[in-house]
Amino acid sequence: MGIRENLEQIITEIPEQVSLVAVSKTKPVDALKEAYEGGQRIFGENKVQELVEKHTQLPDDVEWHMIGHLQRNKVKYIAPFISLIHSVDSLRLLKEINKQGSKLNLKINCLLQIHIAQEEHKFGLSATELDEILSSSDTFEFVNIKGLMGMASFTNDQNQLRSEFTYLAQLFKEKAIDFKNLEILSMGMSGDYPLAIDCGSTMIRVGSRIFGARNYKH
Ligand SMILES: *Cc1c(COP(=O)(O)O)cnc(C)c1O
Repeated sequence: MGIRENLEQIITEIPEQVSLVAVSKTKPVDALKEAYEGGQRIFGENKVQELVEKHTQLPDDVEWHMIGHLQRNKVKYIAPFISLIHSVDSLRLLKEINKQGSKLNLKINCLLQIHIAQEEHKFGLSATELDEILSSSDTFEFVNIKGLMGMASFTNDQNQLRSEFTYLAQLFKEKAIDFKNLEILSMGMSGDYPLAIDCGSTMIRVGSRIFGARNYKH
């Protein structure tokens, strides 16, 4: 099936209030244009350079989301145009985003990435670190913390996935009582988005189900 058919299929499957981020990392601009013509407006990338290059080649009404690990020295390159950064995983990174926002006099939308997977290597904040950041969030004038993001373990074990998504959804619900700006819960990818939605996701990040498998060989 083609990109547009894949998109249509997913759109019909998911509830209307769930946003779909088309994860286009490693895919050529032509593939993004095809998705754009199919009505897709939100694209997610995980590398700053790719984001910078692609964003000039698509129409202005595209919303660009940064979903990958972000180094502080690269925030300045995406700050002028980024719609949402999903992957804020430290206070130092948040401070840098705030600093770049202040230079441009604009508020940059962010999600705080929470560590939910069993794997050690995945990025993300603990519940304690989340509390620390949220309690100091008033001091960041040029950052808008809009919600939480998580990446589940790389597994087919549905019980494991469900427990990770449920944990994050519970944390989100709890924090949203005091922090009214928290409205986005970004969880779910190609392999697990129906389950993530079932657990309360409001934003899914889908790549290979739309664009086909990625080929990392050069
Ligand atoms: C690549 C990626 C996705 C999409 O993965 P698929 O399995 O292709 O849907 C989602 N979120 C993040 C953070 C990613 O890096």
